[in-house]
Amino acid sequence: MKAEIIAVGTEILLGQIVNTNAQYLSEGLAQLGIDVYFQTVVGDNKQRIYDVLKTAHQRADLIICCGGLGPTQDDLTKDIFADFVGKPMYVHEPSMEKMVQLFQQRGIEMTDNNIKQAHIVPDCEPLKNDTGLAVGLALTHNQHHYILLPGPPRELKPMFERYAVPWLKSLIGEKLPLYSKYLKFAGIGESILEDRLKDLMEQQKDPSIAPYAKEGEVLIRLTTKAESEQKAYEKMQSVEQEIMNRVGKYLYASENISFEQALISKLESLGLSLSVAESCTGGKLSELLTSVPGSSLVYKGGIICYSNQLKNKVLHVPMEVLEGEGAPGAISSESAALLAENLNQLTDTDWSISITGVAGPTISEGKPVGLIYIGIKQKGRPAEVKKIQLPGSREMVQLRSAKYALYQLWK
Ligand code: ATP
Ligand code: MG
Repeated sequence: MKAEIIAVGTEILLGQIVNTNAQYLSEGLAQLGIDVYFQTVVGDNKQRIYDVLKTAHQRADLIICCGGLGPTQDDLTKDIFADFVGKPMYVHEPSMEKMVQLFQQRGIEMTDNNIKQAHIVPDCEPLKNDTGLAVGLALTHNQHHYILLPGPPRELKPMFERYAVPWLKSLIGEKLPLYSKYLKFAGIGESILEDRLKDLMEQQKDPSIAPYAKEGEVLIRLTTKAESEQKAYEKMQSVEQEIMNRVGKYLYASENISFEQALISKLESLGLSLSVAESCTGGKLSELLTSVPGSSLVYKGGIICYSNQLKNKVLHVPMEVLEGEGAPGAISSESAALLAENLNQLTDTDWSISITGVAGPTISEGKPVGLIYIGIKQKGRPAEVKKIQLPGSREMVQLRSAKYALYQLWK
């Protein structure tokens, strides 16, 4: 069965709200083994909603509309739908009674425009709205299946789960659900990884292989349909092995967790502790680490030494290194090394990392935006320094350098 999700609402087109309903419904349909072929967004406009229904009718068997079931002028979905399937709207009495009662209880007048929230079409299955007023509906008509749901997620979600899913299950019988497995890589660029797996991705249809890249990390998703998760994983085994043979050394997790989570777990299992000294990242590294619940077992703390005074007073980097005629400067290999060394002395952790550099948007110490030095100190060894040149805005440089520093600990 091919499905199309139509989100109705001008506010989505204006970028005022994010179309989370489409994401939610796509996920739900995938779990039922129903393939979503299209997600459409259309504004609150009669003609365009009608046209979108027509297009969907040509290319999908199941059409789910969300939004526009409310009482106001711009809530058009039901009327247009009734017109589209050529059926008259009529009042669903239980929904109407519920609405009348609710208005009475609240002591407010129920205006006529509310009535349309109780509208349904003949032969449909009304979908109860336990968390709102507008009743939804499911209908099979001329070999097509339709579901209308309200826009607010707090109404749409329970309605979908409680009433639309059982209706869909009765349509499709027991179909094989879709399972995904996530392989997560860090420290390898997306294009390099894709290049190494190119032939596999082209040949491989089931399980399918899809890469997604984000900030120095690449996620590979393997997807297949099977009777159970166990069976799905068995089907994925050989292709997963092949991927591992090619790029396995960059793998940090075989589940959908963040790099920080994986790193904290790894360091924790090795019984290792960590401290950080941050200049240009202003706490970003600490933020990434502490976003992981339970990170206190590994992360002992950090010092944000933004000014040279603090680098000197707290971490004892000599002023002669930090500034003045002929000094290497705060943004230098010397500073990064000293920051990491002295921090390590102070915190007595297994690892200490320092970051100093130019986040931008303007040059500093005559050094270019994006130039970053990362000091990596392992207790008992001299600190090593990595010099990198990162692209991007201030925010991106900060995030990328913090991430880059963490990747150094994975190796
Ligand atoms: P209402 O009775 O609240 O008017 P409705 O069914 O008419 O419900 P809309 O008017 O289209 O729905 O949207 C109401 C609200 O629901 C929006 O302001 C927004 O907060 C949320 N919403 C609508 N569509 C979506 C969507 N696709 N994704 C996420 N939220 C949505
Ligand atoms: Mg509305």
